[in-house]
Amino acid sequence: MTYSRTACQALDAADPLAALREQFDLPAGIIYLDGNSLGARPKAALTRAQHVITQEWGKDLIKSWNTAGWADLTKRLGDKLAPLVGALPGEIVVTDTTSVNLFKALAAALALQADAPARKVIVTERHNFPSDIYMAEGLAGWLERGHTVRLIDTPDEIPAAIGLDTAVLMLTHVNYRTGYQHDMAALTALAHQHGAVTVWDLAHSAGAVPMDLHGAQADFAVGCTYKYLNGGPGAPAFIWVPQRHQGTFHQPLSGWWGHASPFSMASAFAPCDGIGRALCGTQPIVALSLVECGLDVFAQTDMAALRAKSLALTDLFIALVEERCAGHPVELVTPRAHARRGSQVSFTHPHGYAVMQALIERGVIGDYREPHIMRFGFTPLYTSFTDVWDAVDILRQVLDEQAYDVHAARSAVT
Ligand SMILES: *Cc1c(COP(=O)(O)O)cnc(C)c1O
Repeated sequence: MTYSRTACQALDAADPLAALREQFDLPAGIIYLDGNSLGARPKAALTRAQHVITQEWGKDLIKSWNTAGWADLTKRLGDKLAPLVGALPGEIVVTDTTSVNLFKALAAALALQADAPARKVIVTERHNFPSDIYMAEGLAGWLERGHTVRLIDTPDEIPAAIGLDTAVLMLTHVNYRTGYQHDMAALTALAHQHGAVTVWDLAHSAGAVPMDLHGAQADFAVGCTYKYLNGGPGAPAFIWVPQRHQGTFHQPLSGWWGHASPFSMASAFAPCDGIGRALCGTQPIVALSLVECGLDVFAQTDMAALRAKSLALTDLFIALVEERCAGHPVELVTPRAHARRGSQVSFTHPHGYAVMQALIERGVIGDYREPHIMRFGFTPLYTSFTDVWDAVDILRQVLDEQAYDVHAARSAVT
């Protein structure tokens, strides 16, 4: 099949989601393919920030904990997020960072294994997002009960790595580098067969791919709101604890917001019922408020429609790069199989960092991850088919003209 810019424009004209792009403030002249790292700004976030700062904080001051719903915001946002991941109301709070929530979930998962002292291993992937590994190792070391972290090299090797010694299978649903998507239901079932508990990190899948946490019988999950959910830079993350585990969910960061009655100021900690026990301390209300603006855009569509467009965008990008950049040393590392693909496409190039810098200079914003990986995120809420065409056109020019500086200095954030 051969493609053309006109054909891509026709796809945009027929795209039922095309109008949603209007709800984002994207600078002119930019093709933004990095929503997997920092989602674009919903236009509504500006008016919301102004309202929170001038009215709720400025005029109503401390009353806003009650009158503006600040006190319940972590739960209200969790309920809005729930349908995107197959959770029920009352099972998610938006709070803290992904790393901190992972610590809580993992600690609670290990606590569920307290009566199985032979289970000491946390199984995860060597190519998991490093913070997840660091947090697991930090927790294991701090517990001083002989827990270890087992790093698996490839997804195929995971089943053989789970056994009678396994306490927890801790996986990131969609890999941040390759875009590989695990089969959540199959791996959860496998873990359960061996008596292990699962902790899923949804950082690159919440708002990117449909999933069914309950259908998969997952145990715990955490995720990010500043990536595909467009919550804003450093926006609070989320943690999911299904109802069936809430009674026995104990996490060690037992701050006053997880207390049954925080304002009784009791000296003894007593966890509240429900998902609130996943909370720790006071939340950054300004940042937290903006998360709602991203979620409100999702409420106007559904994950099935988003997934259909995401796959069409990523299929098109792969086909165009392979057709139009043929002869250059670009290699696909993202799975071709739809079931195994997230909403990003990664290609390697021996000078991946330099090529990405050249693309960014020409207005195509993706990012770079070691080793050699150029990462392009596709966010169906605001990425168009014409964007895909234009991005590949510019990539082809950069490669044909060798218009990249192989000695380009590295920025702190790549
Ligand atoms: C982005 C990401 C994180 C980020 O963690 P923070 O604590 O929010 O910085 C964690 N895990 C994975 C898998 C991620 O992709």
